Amino acid sequence: MTTLTTSLEELGWIPPKEVVALGSAGIRTAGALLEWFPRRYEDRRRFDAFPVAPGGGAVCLRGRVNDTRNRFGPRVRFYEAVVEDASGAGIGAARITCRWFNMPFLSKVLAAGQEVVLYGKPKEYRGTIVIDHPEFEVVRDAGGPSIHLERVVPVYRNLSGIAQRRLRELQYQLLEEIDPAALAGEFDVDASYPRHEAFREVHFPESLEQAAASRRRFALEEFFRQQLNVAWRRARIDDCSGRVQGRRTALLKAFHESLPFDLTAAQKRSIREVRGDMMQPRPMNRLLQGDVGSGKTFVALAAMLLAVESGSQAALMAPTQILAEQHFLTFRRWLEPLGVRVALRTANRDEATHLPLEGRPQILIGTHALLYDHDELPELGLVVIDEQHKFGVAQRARLIERGERPDVLVMTATPIPRTLTMTIYGDLDVSLLDERPAGRGKLVTALRVKPKQTEVTKFVREQLDQGRQAYLVYPLVEESEKLKAESASEAHEKWCKRLPRHEVGLVHGKVDPEEKESVMRRFRDGGIDALVATTVIEVGVDVPNANLMIIHHAERFGLAQLHQLRGRIGRGEHKSYCILITDGRSAEAMEKLEVLASTADGFVIAEEDLRLRGPGDVLGTMQSGLGDLRFPEFLADTALLREARALADRVLAEDPRLGHRHAALRRWILEEEDGDRVRA
Ligand code: ADP
Ligand code: MG
Repeated sequence: MTTLTTSLEELGWIPPKEVVALGSAGIRTAGALLEWFPRRYEDRRRFDAFPVAPGGGAVCLRGRVNDTRNRFGPRVRFYEAVVEDASGAGIGAARITCRWFNMPFLSKVLAAGQEVVLYGKPKEYRGTIVIDHPEFEVVRDAGGPSIHLERVVPVYRNLSGIAQRRLRELQYQLLEEIDPAALAGEFDVDASYPRHEAFREVHFPESLEQAAASRRRFALEEFFRQQLNVAWRRARIDDCSGRVQGRRTALLKAFHESLPFDLTAAQKRSIREVRGDMMQPRPMNRLLQGDVGSGKTFVALAAMLLAVESGSQAALMAPTQILAEQHFLTFRRWLEPLGVRVALRTANRDEATHLPLEGRPQILIGTHALLYDHDELPELGLVVIDEQHKFGVAQRARLIERGERPDVLVMTATPIPRTLTMTIYGDLDVSLLDERPAGRGKLVTALRVKPKQTEVTKFVREQLDQGRQAYLVYPLVEESEKLKAESASEAHEKWCKRLPRHEVGLVHGKVDPEEKESVMRRFRDGGIDALVATTVIEVGVDVPNANLMIIHHAERFGLAQLHQLRGRIGRGEHKSYCILITDGRSAEAMEKLEVLASTADGFVIAEEDLRLRGPGDVLGTMQSGLGDLRFPEFLADTALLREARALADRVLAEDPRLGHRHAALRRWILEEEDGDRVRA
């Protein structure tokens, strides 16, 4: 009898070549195949009309290939197919041109006379309507009812070695032969909607509504597992004993009084929240979320002083060496006068205040190498992790595992839309720094469509002549064939000529790490006036004297990314300028850039980003540690999330250790944790 664990070979009817192809995508069992859910659906009962103008969203067309050819441009070659509307056939039928770059083998797949279904976004190219890289499927109409036509058809993620229609056939046959009873899961999240029906309807729905309903059921399953995981972790932390810290505050007071500025209300509130956690006998597990420049470091400092005054050690982990050094300098400046021993440990540098060391460091700052070397931290009471998204959930779990659990404070500058916080950081308590410190120069963001280069250069030169520094940001490292955007390396040469009296540096992802660090250091120390860069400067670098950022081809960056970039400036007393340069060709891009020009609030921007791109993309670029999300469309569905959480809480209330009734779920959680450990 076929069950979810039956291997594909055992099924007996999948040809060995296909078994291998599926296997290399990780699909080895009937269950894995059925859980290869459709990515989207096409309603092939009615197709869109052939577009006569560019713009709008993707369209799904049915037509006949009229003509194909290989074309050679100056830099690219591409395969082109003209497809004609088959329904209104004859003279004057609507046509569309499809182009695929650097895919010459398509000439073997797609030929004149074939009927095809196309899916893609139309745009205009030299007066004709084209679709670049459409998804397509050759129609083979055998007559009679078909799973490929005249119905809502599933479209899967591409698998190499298996065509869409073949995959559809495999799913169909599997659903025909598998016993419905075998499709029940470990835990039934919705007894009113049998799982075997949901499987059938997710692959072969009768309507788009039915597809959505079945997807919601599977999304609920997925969220349930995630929430169970979160609730489980939280319960384990609640089980642990931690140190009671933060009763005494003399050091914190002295620090506060030594600051030339007052802490913001948000900083004070966050410090109170952190202290509240630290005084509990269970370990703190808190996220400090604050826009770039909101002063997270000072909250961390305060927390670390509370730990030190309680006789513990505190560690700060930064994602890069330069950030670790930067923190070290800040800490040294504020803590040396208070007599606190601070040390820096990175792969290349090893430094400490109060040399030679009069004892163990009370505060240790370093990169993630710290994770593996705890010899110096026998009394570790607090760990602060800077820039969470570079560390990942798994590494965090690993850190917290060691010995007696320290308090953990995670800091992130990536504003998460409120609706997503629960998904991503469900196991953390959250403090928000939603206020900018006073005394900053104004930050102006301007959007410029194809400005004159001489004017741009003049503006940069003026700022540099006043002693300021500038970031000149580009999207690409090297000249690219497909995208005709100017690259950072090309631009660097040009800027050197435009600014002969100034020092112009270059950093990008392909510069080796040491060189990169050294360039960043020279920029920080004022040896470089203008820095041509890609997004490598995104995270955490603090150069208050840099007050100008020009972002070229701004339309190519994501909203959140642009906001992160912009956060590098506006940190000093001088008025700052962020200039977004774009070609103005896409209305969508203009809308995106207008958002950035109109607000500096990271949370507003995050919400807009979510609205414009959808949760899948937003989370995808965030390295959220959530793994592959199969139903990203539901991520912002708070009601569904609450339902999932309520289910998870109920299960744990019934069976807190998942020992008897829900032993299968416990096995699953432990497997997940193992997986995390392997990945970390
Ligand atoms: P974040 O890590 O959140 O990006 P930082 O902690 O690095 O921000 O602080 C950014 C800058 O603001 C630093 O130069 C810091 O000295 C300054 N700063 C922090 N808090 C305040 C405050 N309350 N008032 C004035 N300046 C502050
Ligand atoms: Mg920071």
